[in-house]
Amino acid sequence: MNSVTVIGLGPMGQAMAHAYLDSGYDVTVWNRTAAKADDLVARGARLAPSVEAAVTANDLVVLSLTDYDAVYAILEQAPPAAFAGRTVANLTSDTPDKARKAAAWLAERGAVQITGGVQVPPPLIGKEGAETYYSGPEDAIETHRAALEVLTRIDHLGEDPGLAALFYQIGMDMFWTGLVSYLHAQAVAEANGISAERFLPNAVKTMDFRYFLEYYAPRIAAGNHEGQVERVAMGVASMEHVLHTVEASGVDGSLPATVLDLFRRAAAEGYGEDSLTRLIEVLKR
Ligand code: NDP
Repeated sequence: MNSVTVIGLGPMGQAMAHAYLDSGYDVTVWNRTAAKADDLVARGARLAPSVEAAVTANDLVVLSLTDYDAVYAILEQAPPAAFAGRTVANLTSDTPDKARKAAAWLAERGAVQITGGVQVPPPLIGKEGAETYYSGPEDAIETHRAALEVLTRIDHLGEDPGLAALFYQIGMDMFWTGLVSYLHAQAVAEANGISAERFLPNAVKTMDFRYFLEYYAPRIAAGNHEGQVERVAMGVASMEHVLHTVEASGVDGSLPATVLDLFRRAAAEGYGEDSLTRLIEVLKR
């Protein structure tokens, strides 16, 4: 029988343990707050009496915790020998550096870490289209491919254990700033009597950045920042109009003011006639 250990039973870890039970796995679980295992135990999961028992129960140990401080708070409860020969699929979000250090910490104990960055919320675990960024040794991923694919599809980015965390964080960088930009625009819409339902179709069209990304990426890669279509100076003028509209609506302007400041810095550095892609140079400094 296929078997797996899941450590961490927040909303994500619970969804994962349920998905394994749905797929007929023999599931061992452990959580700091043991009561969170009750529903899983009622469905046939085994609640390990200790971290050591949880880790040694299976070759594959899935971790789903708040951050890497929680990872160490838990794993340090088991003796180093408990990890020998195990594969730890660490699906805990944190920084690339912490993911690399944890991989080294596990390697010292004879275990292999596969780092994962889950791309979907808990209700989509085990569902069509769900995906996780993975990085770490190819052979470990191949050995456990079937078990990992119970949860989501695999996007293996490379061997560096920090890579999945990096892709996760740069995705979150876009996600949070993009999502807040929608909420900000909705605040301005509401201040002008426009409901979320009315704004929705326009918001969806505006948030579709695919055209721009596909236009920019090859030019960025080639170092071509010629302002043939749009220019930094145009961005400055446009963001000034945005900021005036926001402030006239009585809405907090700190978000567009930050963008305007970036555009102005680029212009002040002599890039006014260049494409907005020049911002990358300004931001990297
Ligand atoms: P939670 O923050 O709810 O995970 C909590 C888990 O971490 C619980 O098992 C909790 O134990 C444990 N924990 C936290 N601190 C400690 C500690 N100091 N010692 C021991 N255990 C600790 O997160 P989720 O379940 O929502 O997510 C888990 C991971 O998945 C996170 O890294 C998250 O970023 C990532 N993720 C989550 C998504 C989501 O939509 N939820 C989407 C994509 C990724 P206890 O129950 O005892 O508190």
